[in-house]
Amino acid sequence: MPPRLGGWGLGQRTVAAITLWRTVYLAPRTPFHPELLLHELRHVHQFRASIAFPVRYLWESVRRGYHRNRYETDAQQYAALRVRAHASHPPTQDV
Ligand SMILES: [Zn+2]
Repeated sequence: MPPRLGGWGLGQRTVAAITLWRTVYLAPRTPFHPELLLHELRHVHQFRASIAFPVRYLWESVRRGYHRNRYETDAQQYAALRVRAHASHPPTQDV
């Protein structure tokens, strides 16, 4: 249900995932893609950083739209940096 509410806010049927405080909701059949999960983890950090985050997030969305919302760009950068860092420096296995 929460991914559908997120989609409604964006004028879509659903979104792949939505985070509400410490809980990440994935839409049915959404693959566990690392970049998506890291993006949602960053939203958990944003919720924990300020009690006013939900209001600030909504205000950013009203003012700038979803794609230019600074919390979204922050989450995208957070996830992309970690996926790229992992790709260029994969963990080594102890033998
Ligand atoms: Zn997001």
